[in-house]
Amino acid sequence: MMLKLNDVHTYYGESHALQGVSIELNEGETVCLLGRNGAGKSTTLKTIVGLTPARRGTVEFEGVDITALPPYKVARLGVGLVPEDRRMFPDLTVRENLEVARYVRPGTTPQWSVERIFDEYDMLAELEHRKAGNLSGGQQQMLAVARSLMSEPKLLLLDEPNEGLAPVIVNQIGALIEQLKKTTTILFTDQSVHFALKHAERAYILEKGQVVCSTTSQELRENEELQQRYLSVA
Ligand code: ATP
Repeated sequence: MMLKLNDVHTYYGESHALQGVSIELNEGETVCLLGRNGAGKSTTLKTIVGLTPARRGTVEFEGVDITALPPYKVARLGVGLVPEDRRMFPDLTVRENLEVARYVRPGTTPQWSVERIFDEYDMLAELEHRKAGNLSGGQQQMLAVARSLMSEPKLLLLDEPNEGLAPVIVNQIGALIEQLKKTTTILFTDQSVHFALKHAERAYILEKGQVVCSTTSQELRENEELQQRYLSVA
């Protein structure tokens, strides 16, 4: 088991955002966390990395209890988060944004480098000297994902990777996920099923801070009632 959330409760002040979330990911899986606006998807990812620590319950990564670890320590264990707002350094170039994100875990051989990213992603190579603040939403999303690779994640958490992007860009992000799936375990969030069904093997559906369903993509594809009950129609 790579990741295990057991009965996780997270609060914003008095507001009880996650109300007993339990999810599990095996190494090599690509899993989607589905749910409408406000269901608790972002909070789940933020709780895993320690940005909004669980007040009750536990988060384990590779058998280690990370529930109370600060975000930088969780990152160093090999968990990469691409947040919804993508957090670029707008005044740095694409290359510089990649360089500042470099982190290699002691004792491991790095798989990624700025040069390899430019080799594999032509679109980013062409933007090497452009300031991140001048990129389009889709270009920024590509950069955000590429930047997370610079810390050599074993587990990649992507918060609504296709949000607000034009369909042609969504396809490119999808292609990027397909490629990353080969080497990395991925948990991503989404509000509607199409992208999830295409790229994830399994899904958890969240509603009001609780997991209301754990399903394979195949089952979800065939169950329109489930889709309509819990998800945005898009
Ligand atoms: P979205 O698509 O809007 O990101 P989500 O499923 O990711 O939806 P969360 O952002 O995790 O949902 O929000 C879960 C609940 O926690 C919601 O009720 C939301 O209003 C609340 N919440 C989120 N962030 C905060 C915050 N910073 N302060 C207070 N409440 C928050």
